[in-house]
Amino acid sequence: MEKDQTAAAGKTPSDTSLSTQWKAVCGLLRAEIGEAAYQSWLKPMTVREVVDGELRISVPTRFMRDWIIAHYLDRLCELWADENAAVKSVDVYIQSEREMETAPSRKKTSSGDAGSSGNGGSKDYRVDISAPLDQRYTFEQFVVGKPNEFAYAAARRIAEASKVVFNPLFLYGGVGLGKTHLMQAIAWHIRERTPDRTVIYLSAEKFMYRFIRALREKNTVNFKEQFRSVDVLMIDDVQFISGKESTQEEFFHTFNSLVDQGRQIVLSADKSPSDLEGMEERLISRLNYGLVADIHATTYELRLGILHSKAEKISMEIPQKVLEFLAHKITANVRELEGGLNRVVAHAQLVGREISLEATQDVLHDLLRANDRRVTIEEIQKRVAVHFNIRVSDMHSARRARSVARPRQVAMYLAKQLTARSLPEIGRKFGGRDHTTVMHAVKKVDELREQDSSFAEDVELLRRMLEG
Ligand code: ADP
Ligand code: MG
Repeated sequence: MEKDQTAAAGKTPSDTSLSTQWKAVCGLLRAEIGEAAYQSWLKPMTVREVVDGELRISVPTRFMRDWIIAHYLDRLCELWADENAAVKSVDVYIQSEREMETAPSRKKTSSGDAGSSGNGGSKDYRVDISAPLDQRYTFEQFVVGKPNEFAYAAARRIAEASKVVFNPLFLYGGVGLGKTHLMQAIAWHIRERTPDRTVIYLSAEKFMYRFIRALREKNTVNFKEQFRSVDVLMIDDVQFISGKESTQEEFFHTFNSLVDQGRQIVLSADKSPSDLEGMEERLISRLNYGLVADIHATTYELRLGILHSKAEKISMEIPQKVLEFLAHKITANVRELEGGLNRVVAHAQLVGREISLEATQDVLHDLLRANDRRVTIEEIQKRVAVHFNIRVSDMHSARRARSVARPRQVAMYLAKQLTARSLPEIGRKFGGRDHTTVMHAVKKVDELREQDSSFAEDVELLRRMLEG
């Protein structure tokens, strides 16, 4: 059996029983998760005390804490509750943090410390630079589709490679399309497979903040050391670094020195390197030197896939119709899509009713309108012009030939249906026409839809394409 992992020295008898109980819990969990996971995660844990029904366990690093919370906390709670009825919850904290606050004598750090590479102390410090990772942001929970398959493959490659394959990996794409998710998935994966590699994930803002603080405290040597001794450095949202000269300078040096040492760098931004404003040329060319992978706007298929995957984890029946409706309507980004689904589920649970299409439309009223508004009149004009094979400029022109007048009316009609623009606003966008012209167009198109089913289909098709 293991060495006693509890801090037994000088403790009360209840701690001795805690220690016995911990052995029992450990034994059960060990059988469930296997020897390797046990050695990595459970063994370094130290059971401290029970306070007000909360069992406190300390671990040596932030990463361990995050991992244990993400993967074992629920099970630990259950097993503990079985073992000791007084335990209502379990808290896992980083040993050094609280020890510094309460300053008792230094406890030994466990020799089973996963990935300890000699100088344990400074390593923990480095790990602490990293922002905590979201336990949901793993590869397993990332739904792959056409718009993100390339970025996903690149991220996977980096995560699985034992040596640098391309440097840096630069991920870019619009808000809420999965950049942060992919980066953290890389971090989780590497930390899980090779815990001895130091992976640091942080936002560009944090990076800047730390750098500026180091400058102020005249401590830049230390700053450089911290970053230059990591194996994988990930900086999220580097668009925030652009325009900040001294930070860019530092970033550039850190970047070069890491690349020279064969360390992996992963960056993300909302634009491609060349489109980042206020970035220095040499930095751009360095960024372009690695692999640049973009995440495109979602497609209907991907959105539906993501909804299915999320719905599986929810213990409520969600009609397929509702999922399709959401995938169809919430097109802006995945974050909003998730938010929409969550709201629908929360509402249904609250009022104790089943999820229906009607309720969904009701609950998401504002969100749906906001998404509708995202279709611009310019997009409508472009789509309609392409569809009817006329020039976009004809949308604004004074030409009255039916071949251009009819498509123009359709575009006005769709602008009224799909955007929140007023009739005069729409008129202005169509070559400064009067609002009565727009009103007439709307009426005309409505009439024609009634009379001519193939025309009605055309309009319907255009509407669907424009709605995403
Ligand atoms: P970004 O960093 O690009 O702004 P995030 O990575 O924060 O976007 O993603 C926003 C939300 O959408 C997160 O909750 C994320 O898990 C989710 N998400 C994005 N893309 C996917 C995907 N392909 N599969 C599953 N969830 C996704
Ligand atoms: Mg992000």
